[in-house]
Amino acid sequence: MGKKNQSKYCYMCGAPATSKEHVSPACLFPEKKDIKTSIFRNNLITVPSCELHNSKKSKDDEFLMACMSGIVGGNIIGFFHAHTKVRRAMERSGKDFVNVFMRDYRPAIIKSGQGKEFPVLVGRAHFDRLHSCFQHIAHGLYFHKFGKQFEGECRILLDFLTYENEKMETYKMLCRKRIELEPKKPKKEGLNPEIFRYEFMDPDEQGIIALIMTFYEGAKVFVAFQGKDCKPYFNLAGMLIESGVKMVINFPDGSHFEFN
Ligand SMILES: [Zn+2]
Repeated sequence: MGKKNQSKYCYMCGAPATSKEHVSPACLFPEKKDIKTSIFRNNLITVPSCELHNSKKSKDDEFLMACMSGIVGGNIIGFFHAHTKVRRAMERSGKDFVNVFMRDYRPAIIKSGQGKEFPVLVGRAHFDRLHSCFQHIAHGLYFHKFGKQFEGECRILLDFLTYENEKMETYKMLCRKRIELEPKKPKKEGLNPEIFRYEFMDPDEQGIIALIMTFYEGAKVFVAFQGKDCKPYFNLAGMLIESGVKMVINFPDGSHFEFN
C-alpha cells in the first residue's frame, strides 16, 4: 500500500480517492466571522478520501463539533465555538442542541480548583459514533505522518469520558499514567494547538505506536496503532485481566492500578 501514489488513494480504505478530508475536521475550527482575529483555519491537514470516508457526507463532522466544543476541560475557544457556529448549525437543522451529543442528561454543578461553580450537563455520550469519528481522525493523522494507509488494529480510549465499564476506566487511568511517566516526550504537532494538537510516540518494543490527540487544550484521546506487521507477542498481564484474574500494576511513582 505504501508504494502507491499517495494522493490517489483513500487514507482509510485504499479505494480511489474522489475528494479530500480535513484532519481533524475543519468545522472544529472557528470561522473569521466569529473570532475576528482568527487565523485558526490556516494550514489545516488534508488527506485523500473516497466518498464513503469523507466525514462531511456522513454528518459526523457536525456531530463531533457539537460533542467536542462544549466539553468540560476545554478552553475558551471551544466554549465560544459551541455558542456560535455549533449553535447555529443545530438551529439550522432543527435539532435539539444537547440531544445530538448526549442522552439521559441532567444539569449539575462542578467546582473549579479555585472553588468557583460552573453549571454543566451530565449524560451518556453516543459512544459508538464518537469512537468512529476518532478512528477516522487517527487514521488520517497516521496517513499524514507516515505517507501510507494504516493497516492493523487501531484502539481508542477517550480520556475525557468516564467509562461505565470499570475495567475500561482503569485501563484509561493506566494509560494516562504511562503517558505522564513517559521519559521521551514526543514532539507536539499541529499548527493550531489551541484547537487541535497531536503527538506520536516512538514505536514500543512490539512495534505499537501510540498517539495522543488533544482538542481545545483539554479533551484528550489516546490511540494505539498495532500494525499488521507488529511482532506477535504474548501479553500475559492483558490475558489475565481479560479472564477476570485479580491484577495490580504498580508504577515507579508509587501509584497502582487494580483490575478485577
Ligand atoms: Zn475510503
